[in-house]
Amino acid sequence: MLADMTDTLSIAERSRLMSKIRGKNTGPERAVRSLLHRAGYRFRIHVRDLPGTPDVVLPKYRTIVFVHGCFWHRHRGCKIATMPHSHVKFWTEKFRRNVANDARHRRKLRRLGWQVVVVWSCQLKHPDRILAKIENALKPRRRTGRLAPLARLPLVAESRPAYGK
Ligand SMILES: [Zn+2]
Repeated sequence: MLADMTDTLSIAERSRLMSKIRGKNTGPERAVRSLLHRAGYRFRIHVRDLPGTPDVVLPKYRTIVFVHGCFWHRHRGCKIATMPHSHVKFWTEKFRRNVANDARHRRKLRRLGWQVVVVWSCQLKHPDRILAKIENALKPRRRTGRLAPLARLPLVAESRPAYGK
């Protein structure tokens, strides 16, 4: 059934279908946001001034959370990250670009002094584990080396940025 659908959809149709899944404010992203919100965290969303327009930014913790769809961002070893049966070359190139962009954004963000956490959409089956993963990253740790100054961010949730000192 699924294989049939994959074969009969044209690239344009499939692209359109997938872009709906890919768009901002997707289910997985909203789920992570409400998870963090319920746990009492303040954050900003879709911060365009930062590389990759991060989905969730926790300025106080200098931490960024990306919520990645397993199909588009190629979650390694995940059964959702399938390869369509037709137009393999097209999809291979598209996926390669997505993965390369993600890596570049993470690199840039780390260079700017941000910690980056990636949450995969398939992990949303276990919200408690996701929260644990993020909170583990937020724990204060001994910092080595100098942190680059933070870029000024547009404020949404807080009146003043509390850049964790
Ligand atoms: Zn996955």
